[in-house]
Amino acid sequence: MQRILRRYRKPLFYGAVALLLLCLVLLVRSAVSKRRSGSEAREEAIRRENLSKEQEKEAQQEMEATPVPSPTPTPEPYADKPDIDINDWKFILANPWHSVEEYEPDLEWFEDVQLDYRIIDAMDAFVGDARDLGYSVVMVSGYRSYDTQTGLFEQTADAYGEEEAATIVAVPGTSEHQTGLAADITDDYYDLMNESLENTELYQWMSAHCHEYGFIVRFPKGKEDITGIIYEPWHYRYVGVEAATYIMEHDLTLEEFLELYQPKENLTA
Ligand SMILES: [Zn+2]
Repeated sequence: MQRILRRYRKPLFYGAVALLLLCLVLLVRSAVSKRRSGSEAREEAIRRENLSKEQEKEAQQEMEATPVPSPTPTPEPYADKPDIDINDWKFILANPWHSVEEYEPDLEWFEDVQLDYRIIDAMDAFVGDARDLGYSVVMVSGYRSYDTQTGLFEQTADAYGEEEAATIVAVPGTSEHQTGLAADITDDYYDLMNESLENTELYQWMSAHCHEYGFIVRFPKGKEDITGIIYEPWHYRYVGVEAATYIMEHDLTLEEFLELYQPKENLTA
């Protein structure tokens, strides 16, 4: 046994050394690989983090790119109103709250009344067509000057007092007749300027066709609070065909029509 040991001592020693070296190499390799796997894991974590950041960014971009569905827009009322300039002479406003002061139009005679010369042709066509249809049309009143209105008002004020007079006769500057764009038209065989004029065929035809000539029924029934004037089926006002057609088709008053052109109040202010 001892002989055997002695004989194999050297190879055994070298074998042990070799084994030891092998173990050492394996140990180092494992340590290196462990460290590498650790750094790989870190890299992987960073990669993953970056990826999730990227995905988040992409998702956000996608969200930004996708148009947010807006609520169904409510159509603006009267969005189809005519494209007109409300500062044009045709839209001069005279009512109890809006005086035209001492405004004086250039006048021309039309039968027994004076009107703004620019509406003579329209009035001639309107009245002429009514007569062609057999209606008896009479022009009662057209332009009334500031001075005439003042005299009328003062007379009434003497009898009733100023406050009551204002409910009967327009305060000077606030009568539409001063603009020369209005006329009282009635049926020759009918009581002058009576509300029941609306029952006549003349009124039926005139109120249905006035807009074709540029006129409107200026003081309609049920709109007294807006116009400040009682129902007057005899009183026509010129505004031009485009505006008149829109006003009559939408049952508006001149006040309501002009309001459509006022700048909208900024609701966010
Ligand atoms: Zn009138």
